[in-house]
Amino acid sequence: MKVFLNATFPPTNSSPEKKLYVGDEYDFMFLLWIVGVSMARIIIVRCSRCRAKIFRYLKVGSGKLWHCWKNRILDDYSKRQGDRVLCPKCGSLIGIEKKNYVKLVKGAYRY
Ligand SMILES: [Zn+2]
Repeated sequence: MKVFLNATFPPTNSSPEKKLYVGDEYDFMFLLWIVGVSMARIIIVRCSRCRAKIFRYLKVGSGKLWHCWKNRILDDYSKRQGDRVLCPKCGSLIGIEKKNYVKLVKGAYRY
């Protein structure tokens, strides 16, 4: 499983939300722990046009998904063209890749 991990398990001094931004490695047990205690869940981001899978993503907290933090993307099925993230099947524009996240295009995806 392709996951970035942070050493301390379980993390004690900071919130899971904060911990997940750290770019080190998380292990699988830590992920399960996060899913258990926080609002985190694993979602599949799909193309709204053809329903192809784009990302398997660890979403923390409630609310809408506007962008995908790169270190929470568990599986990446997308096609890249420079910094453009495209649907692997129909080629429609899903998002724009920034430094640590992918900014999603409104209406181009569903989950
Ligand atoms: Zn598509």
